[in-house]
Amino acid sequence: MKKRVAVYPGSFDPVTFGHLDIIDRAAKIFDHLIVSVFVHSAKRHLFEVPERVAMLKTALKGKKNVSVDCFEGLLVDYAKKKKTEVIVRGLRAISDLEYEFQIAAVNRTLSPGIETVFFMPRQRYTYLSSSIVRDIAHFKGDVSKLVPPHVVKAIKRLKK
Ligand code: ADP
Repeated sequence: MKKRVAVYPGSFDPVTFGHLDIIDRAAKIFDHLIVSVFVHSAKRHLFEVPERVAMLKTALKGKKNVSVDCFEGLLVDYAKKKKTEVIVRGLRAISDLEYEFQIAAVNRTLSPGIETVFFMPRQRYTYLSSSIVRDIAHFKGDVSKLVPPHVVKAIKRLKK
């Protein structure tokens, strides 16, 4: 039987418990999940792409059917290259819907064979975003309830 492979793209700057919640749910449903960091040079960032990839790898160590990668350019081209027809995204709240709806519709227009599927995180992570983590980090606040311990350490190192 054909393996069901899905790609979960995002900035992951940095990875949060919300992302990890979505990854757990998707990894239960697909045979293989590729978590891929989108390289977006214009966007302001906290961590460089290789650091984001490394932090994801540490967070996902031991998850046999999940791999970590990065990509540049159009997501649909990357998906084709990886031979997957499924894009995974997370929906936190209605506020995510408009943006996600637009991206999914555009991707479907560009590549009709590709489906976008959405997962909802557990309620306590519905308010959580990487940008909130970056804002709290900027003001030297405590992010230990929002990101894994190795990410907390990496943020502390940045602030020195
Ligand atoms: P952000 O910077 O907004 O956290 P990313 O680009 O890293 O976002 O997000 C990648 C995907 O993960 C998006 O579909 C986003 O909606 C989803 N996501 C991010 N945080 C969460 C969360 N706390 N719960 C569910 N989905 C999330």
